[in-house]
Amino acid sequence: MKIRVGHLYPDYLNIYADRGNIAVLTRRAAWRGHELDVRGLSIGDAMDPAAHDLLYVGGGQDREQALIAHDIAAKRDGIIAAAEAGTAILAVCGGYQLLGRSYRDFHGADLPGVGLFPLETVAGERRMIGDVLLECELDAGVRRPLAGFENHAGRTHLDDGAEPLGRVVAGFGNDGESGYEGCRVGRAVGTYLHGPLLPRNPWFADWVLAQALAHATGRDPEPLEPLADELEAEAHRISARRAETRGGRY
Ligand code: GLN
Repeated sequence: MKIRVGHLYPDYLNIYADRGNIAVLTRRAAWRGHELDVRGLSIGDAMDPAAHDLLYVGGGQDREQALIAHDIAAKRDGIIAAAEAGTAILAVCGGYQLLGRSYRDFHGADLPGVGLFPLETVAGERRMIGDVLLECELDAGVRRPLAGFENHAGRTHLDDGAEPLGRVVAGFGNDGESGYEGCRVGRAVGTYLHGPLLPRNPWFADWVLAQALAHATGRDPEPLEPLADELEAEAHRISARRAETRGGRY
């Protein structure tokens, strides 16, 4: 099966080598006989809501976010229509913030957002930095851990009733107070976790792939054939242990 991926702003949003997530998806898809067809989508490119099975956007500093914010806001209708039609979406940090309604940076400048995720982000004085461990329940009754690294000044406030990606076990998460991290709307997930996120969380990489495949086939998401994942499990253990021993303070 060919899985069509739109990588938004690969030339602007790639802090902490977030494009490594695409490399993980490509290999894990290939090991199951699927091919990822990855296209960059940048400033001025048209956003066809039917053209992708997965949209991916990485993280970046305020400066890079400011450079692309008006363009991503102009792609708003296309991105929301894609999500409503079941396209999988993964957005990390700066990209996560811009898929919310708005981002107010440290200088008080307001950047427009896409409004896919029901949240707003306002930068605070101190950055929230360090290893993070979450507990997620993306499939009802199945709780799984996610480990990663966060570095953000933005405090993200979810609307009442919004679904977070997970509960913070260690680290700051969305705002350092709510105990929640990230946001999920259907097959769209936003998170502060870099690292990159997917090499050390193989179950989550496969969850994202399964959502993208579901869009490609028009069927419900199905579990993918298991892989050995020994190195990935070790990377996860080390990352989770670092988060557990860091404490959750500034
Ligand atoms: N500029 C944003 C913040 O600091 C996002 C940073 C990032 O993507 N790491 O809140």
